[in-house]
Order: sequence, then structure tokens, then C-alpha cells
Amino acid sequence: MNISYMDLRVEDPVLMKELLAAVERTLSHGILVLGPEVDELEKIIAFLCQKQFAVGMASGTDSLYLALRALDIGPGDEVITTPMTWVASTNAIVLCGATPKFVDIRPDMNIDETLIPEAITPRTKAVLPVHWHGKLCRMTEIRRLADKHGLYVVEDVAQAICAERDGKRAGSFGHINCLSMNAMKVWNAYGDAGAAVTDDERLREKLRSLRYAGTINREDCHYPSLNARIDTVQAAMLLVNVKRLPERIRRRREIARFYTDSLRGIVECPEIEDGHVFYSYTVQTDQRDRLKDYLESHGVAARIRQPFLVTQQAAYRKLPLSRIPLAEEVIKRILCLPIHHNLTNQELEYVVSCVKEFHGNGR
Ligand SMILES: *Cc1c(COP(=O)(O)O)cnc(C)c1O
Repeated sequence: MNISYMDLRVEDPVLMKELLAAVERTLSHGILVLGPEVDELEKIIAFLCQKQFAVGMASGTDSLYLALRALDIGPGDEVITTPMTWVASTNAIVLCGATPKFVDIRPDMNIDETLIPEAITPRTKAVLPVHWHGKLCRMTEIRRLADKHGLYVVEDVAQAICAERDGKRAGSFGHINCLSMNAMKVWNAYGDAGAAVTDDERLREKLRSLRYAGTINREDCHYPSLNARIDTVQAAMLLVNVKRLPERIRRRREIARFYTDSLRGIVECPEIEDGHVFYSYTVQTDQRDRLKDYLESHGVAARIRQPFLVTQQAAYRKLPLSRIPLAEEVIKRILCLPIHHNLTNQELEYVVSCVKEFHGNGR
């Protein structure tokens, strides 16, 4: 058997037809720059995040960078964040001219909110938590802390659209919250796309300006900025597959539960929590590299996501050392098993049997 880690093909013929029809409609009306599909999509995104407004962006990275710009975060400011993330969230902070302050993780790999207070200095402007692998951070606590200290919260929701706890969604807690719908995410475009959500009308206007070269009315430039507009064709396709999102999340949860039920006691498995959307399914084991090689030699693509903490990346090694012992330990032990929606039950059984075989438990 050959099991890919990720499968971006559109296998469902009905979905294929609907996507192509959406592209055709968009090409026919020809409003390709911030067309009507973008407005419609923004309403849905705001709804999914329990916020009033969404501003479509060309990518998740753009939305993070422009969210911080909209909050006037810049040189001399510090932003508290996690080292357990994709570099985009740290890049956004550094591109603004601000300094990232890394706080260690909890055993569930999200930022440890109890360590945030000691990281706050007079220069701290914001907290940027990342819902890693699709599990919501302790957001109620983080927002309470931020309010107490007068800090902004910017959530990185890239891996966690629709993740929730106690009925509150990822993307609903921060002042501005940032989504990615790049082709690899749980809710995917067929290329790059992102969005920033907020309840603040003034911030919404600023984000709309910042995504359009910093212009007001598309002509007068008020802030030097990027072109970070979401593509109308991608918006049209996102409007089609958003209807499949609940089913996809349901299937991811089902796969995660199957893995945890089957592999508990053999490797360290994630807890199955109702609100987790399982962008990744990550086990931990001391024999990580050997298990990965074994799975690969048996046709199962397992991945280490990510193999490096941000602090270990070439771009960031020169930053002052952070005290992040748990993150430094966990990063050596994580391995992600395939969890995409095209996987069959038979394939899942095979993955489980390979992991068991490696550990000598037999079939
Ligand atoms: C994917 C991702 C991003 C960036 O999104 P892009 O759309 O690829 O720019 C940011 N943060 C995290 C945690 C991500 O997984």
C-alpha cells in the first residue's frame, strides 16, 4: 500500500464540477479584483469565526503581517508568541520591526498561558497565540490576561478554522484573528488565500486599506503596504467547498479517534477533544526517527511537522535564548500520521498495523 501524507487532488466528481462551474461564472462576469464572491466569502468567514467582519487576504502570512500593522505594532514593541509554529507567525512579527518573545508550550503543544505574565515587559504590545495542529489555545485565560495588561490579542487560526471550546470558536477571541486557506489547510483554496477577522469597524477599514497598497478608495495611499488582496477566483471556489467543511472536520475527528483508540499505550496519542479539528494528528515517541523510517519503508508517509522550533531556524538563531525546555524536548519526539479526507478505512487500518508492527505487537 502507498499512503500519502497529504492528498490535494479533487477526487469527488461532483465537487470538481461545482468548482469548475464557479470558476466559469467568475470568468464570465469578469469582476476579478475583489469581485462579489469576495464579499460573500467574507460574510461566511466572519460567521464561522463568530465575528462581525472579515477581510479577505492573499494568504495567511499577509493577514498576520497586516493585522500587526493595523494595530500599529512596530520597532521597539514586543509580541509574546510560541516557538511551536510555522515560521509565518514569527515572520509577521519581525517584518513589522517588532521583537518576538517566545514562551514555552503546554504538554498539548499550545502556548502555556501561565508563563505569559512573566514574559510581559513595558514594551509588550500583543500576544500572538497559535492554535497548533487544530487545537484551540486556552483563549479565555489568554484574553483575560491581555485585557488586564492592556495588550492586543492576535490569534493565528491558520490550522484551526472552526475549532472550538464551550461553544466559542477559534478566531473569536482576539482583536484581529488570522486565517489561512492555503491548499494544505483543513478548509482549502486551490492556491493561496487568507483572511483577517475583527469586530472593530475601524480596524476593518484599516485592514482593507492595507491589503490594497495602503490606499483609501483604491487611489490615495495613506500607508506604505502590500498588494494582499484575496483572489476572486479562489473566493469563488472557497464558497463551493465550504459546504463540505463540516463533513471534512467530522471525518478528521473520526480518524483521530480511531488512531487514538488503536494506538493508545503504544505511542503517546493526543487527547480526543470535541472542539479539536485535527489539522494534524501528532503522536509522540522516543523512537520517532526510527518509526518514521519504518512507516516510510512500508509505504506510509508520516511527517514531522515541524522539525524545527522557530528559535532553531537559521533566520532566528541569533535572537536571545528563550527558556522553552518543554518545546525543545517535544520537538524531538513528534510525528504526524496521515489524516486527510481522502483516506479510506482500509488505509487507516494499515497505518495502525504498521505502527503496531514496529512496536512488535503484531497484527
Ligand atoms: C499555514 C500557516 C500560516 C501561513 O499561512 P499561508 O496562507 O501559508 O501564508 C501561518 N501560521 C500557521 C500556524 C500556519 O499553519
